[in-house]
Amino acid sequence: MTTRPSIVWFRDDLRLADHPALHAAAEHGAPIVAVYVLDEESPGIRPLGAAAHWWLHGSLTALAESLARLGVPLVLRRGAAGPIIAELAASVDAEAVLWNRRYGGAERAVDTEIKAGLRENGVLAHSFAGSLLFEPWTISTGAGGSYSVFTPFWRACNAAPPPRQPYPAPQSLEGRSASLDSDDLASWALLPTRPDWAGGLRAAWVPGEDAAHESLTTFLRDTLPRYASERDAPAEEATSRLSPHLRWGEISPYQVWHATQQVQRTATGADAASGIRFLTELGWREFAWHVLFHAPDLATVNLRRDYDAFPWPPLDERALEAWKHGRTGFALVDAGMRELWRTGSMHNRVRMVTASFLIKNLLIDWRQGEQWFWDCLVDADSASNPFGWQWVAGSGADAAPYFRVFNPELQAKKFDPNEEYIRQNIPEWATDAYPAPLVDLGETRRAALAAYAELKRPT
Ligand code: FAD
Repeated sequence: MTTRPSIVWFRDDLRLADHPALHAAAEHGAPIVAVYVLDEESPGIRPLGAAAHWWLHGSLTALAESLARLGVPLVLRRGAAGPIIAELAASVDAEAVLWNRRYGGAERAVDTEIKAGLRENGVLAHSFAGSLLFEPWTISTGAGGSYSVFTPFWRACNAAPPPRQPYPAPQSLEGRSASLDSDDLASWALLPTRPDWAGGLRAAWVPGEDAAHESLTTFLRDTLPRYASERDAPAEEATSRLSPHLRWGEISPYQVWHATQQVQRTATGADAASGIRFLTELGWREFAWHVLFHAPDLATVNLRRDYDAFPWPPLDERALEAWKHGRTGFALVDAGMRELWRTGSMHNRVRMVTASFLIKNLLIDWRQGEQWFWDCLVDADSASNPFGWQWVAGSGADAAPYFRVFNPELQAKKFDPNEEYIRQNIPEWATDAYPAPLVDLGETRRAALAAYAELKRPT
């Protein structure tokens, strides 16, 4: 047996179970070097937001503890991944480097270059499918292109070979005996200090693989039957809250898929419909990545290029600040923005309402909102976030038509009829301290539609 070690490079897959790269390394039997590289320097890699940094600290702590229990230290390095992986491979005389694939354009470019460099130096490089149920290039239209509408995309996924079964977590691993230099996680200063604004995040979330599985189990046991009927009501807590766990790969979509299928086997009627609805939402996650794979500039460039001519007025900084801090005078919008600030998350229905309000009532470019969400969301991911924003703006894939303007007052009446969610998030609601409406909904809606008509006018 070879004693040259295998390097397992952890990225957006901070777990031990159903980790194909780790599984393959464990099966191979050589000593394992586990490494995580915080790369915010390679060309095109988008630096993480503040809430993401907070989550990453917790998730790496949990992963390091799980690996340590199996006798493998987690090596931490910060900087451009290319030279770091090459240097590490040389210094431990690695036989192979293994990782699970990433699908963003810049990330793929980094990985391709690293793979070529390793192979040139006689080091094996293997990549695996671990973060998506369907590799984006395996799902294509009859004409061989990518999908821009969800329903046929998801139909094609469902006609493809079904997602494989998850791999078990390794029961034992062999670490490499000599110790390796590692950064101290605290030195990365991912947690906020002066001020420590993360109290609400700590109260709302527990990062890590164990917490991810607990969320899934509780959701499938207690909540799934009412998912289809209540998922749009933000006060009901009827959704899985798995998005940050999936974002950081603390749980894999394969695990979520098969655990749900297991429940579906005995579910009937409305319960079965709820399960299908939940699996379809996982489908939207797949679709967002499919779209990003084929349009790597999704966070900055309109997918529908005719939107490039949209006549955005000069940025109203005061209105943008009011929106960010939940002081627009529209209760559902403000409740959502304050939930985001406090907990690092926001209910899906309210994400749509707050995004629509920014774009269509304040006439502020969707990219401003996307960047704020990127900074504040613990689940911010480079596919679903720009995908969601472009969907609301009308410029994206399978997007809401531009003339669909969510009315935040009607949305509140429909989805938060007892104002429970509003009161949870706005302590001064219905008092004199609550701000007056920033804009007139009817007037701003008309202005947005006029701007849209200008875009559509033949030139
Ligand atoms: P559930 O309803 O329990 O759904 C299960 C899983 O399916 C989610 O965890 C998520 O992984 C996936 N999912 C559900 N809805 C969507 C969707 N519309 N698009 C893509 N995946 C979906 N989701 C993110 O994970 N990261 C983001 O950065 C993000 N930004 C968004 C921005 C905007 C403007 C909008 C409108 C939506 C955004 N979403 C994003 C999608 C959605 O709001 C969240 O996935 C959802 O609120 C997470 O809650 P949950 O885990 O309880 O979802």
